[in-house]
Amino acid sequence: VTVTDDRPATRRLLATWGVLGTRADLAGHRAVHGDLNVRADGGLLDAIARSGLTGRGGGGFPTAAKLELFRRHRPSILAVNASEGEPASRKDATLLSICPHLVLEGAQLAAGLAGSGAVCVCLHEGSAAYDSVAEAIAERRATHLGDLPTEIVVVPSRYISGEESALTNFLMTGRPLPLHRRSKSVPVTFGRSGTVLVQNTETLAHLSLIARHGPVWFQSAGTGGEPGTRLVTISGAVHHPGVYEASAGAPLGSVLGLAGLAAPLSGVLVGGFGGSFVSPQHLALPYSPSGLAPAGAHPGAGVLIALPVGSCPLAEVARVARYMASESAGQCGPCVFGLPAIASDLELLAAGSAGQAVLDRLRSRLGAVAGRGGCRHPDGVVRMVRSALDVFAADLGAHVNGGGCGGRVGVIPVPRNQP
Ligand code: SF4
Repeated sequence: VTVTDDRPATRRLLATWGVLGTRADLAGHRAVHGDLNVRADGGLLDAIARSGLTGRGGGGFPTAAKLELFRRHRPSILAVNASEGEPASRKDATLLSICPHLVLEGAQLAAGLAGSGAVCVCLHEGSAAYDSVAEAIAERRATHLGDLPTEIVVVPSRYISGEESALTNFLMTGRPLPLHRRSKSVPVTFGRSGTVLVQNTETLAHLSLIARHGPVWFQSAGTGGEPGTRLVTISGAVHHPGVYEASAGAPLGSVLGLAGLAAPLSGVLVGGFGGSFVSPQHLALPYSPSGLAPAGAHPGAGVLIALPVGSCPLAEVARVARYMASESAGQCGPCVFGLPAIASDLELLAAGSAGQAVLDRLRSRLGAVAGRGGCRHPDGVVRMVRSALDVFAADLGAHVNGGGCGGRVGVIPVPRNQP
């Protein structure tokens, strides 16, 4: 794992790494961040609200509003969502691997604010962060910090496992499947078992720092509308792929530059496999939800994948679409049948063996799938493919008019067990 940012102004979540150069145990964590002498009360909730902190898992919901909402339902569990089903993301595992106490403290505070009685740290099978989290929990128990009962829960290593309702369902029933919800702003409850408050790993680490330093300090990085820093996992055509911390609202190109661009780019996949491609003309846009909106993009899971000139974008998109089709939870027809059909059309186009009729059929299939799944998984695929058809229109034309482009394939880190 590469963890780098030498600029102190944006070194917050990664501060212990910058100072210690290794994983922070409890003593190292305290040496860098100091003790946490804050109560989980209305004052803290007000500070979080004034900070403008939003969820860093992809949804971007205001954190204080979510805590308020769930407090009324008294969730039995506070779930730290570190399942990181997004294949190109490493930020949550990295955070828990190098400074687990920052996240665990944030989880304790959030659980206290929402009235939860226990904390679960949800890691996917084989997570690189498992030992670090287990050690940190044991260390906190041994030092009698008075934490709420805290345990690790291992979730299936699937893309969809980290979806909020799927994680809630898994913790309550053992089934890692998304739940059909009439409104995403109403918590799903399970009789006497209550409900689960799911918070992203990075969000909780920010919360812990806001509790220490207050909302004004949090807003001293980022922009007025998009305060704080963001963790970003950068891969593709860069010299140093890894996890970086950047000020919200910094130009997209400068954020990518943290990893050292290694080639001229044909496009960038922003947000993750369910995100959007943007063109090199968009590198000056601010890296934030509102800043990326003109390009139809969103920071999402904090993923940036740089596609170099000379790679075949259509083949890359087809690989991602095939993977996403294989990760359907198998509950909804448009997702189960539509995503493999979309992937097949993309494969035909990438191979240069399909013409305008297949392209028209692909666009029709995208329209038929959009908005018709029980969760947002198929919508993410539709968004990613549509953005690729726009950004790589010239490549698409070359493929449709006969023959492939002969470009390199294999830039996007699609899991090895998938096509
Ligand atoms: S849309 Fe797909 S992933 Fe979502 S619930 Fe339906 S089948 Fe599962």
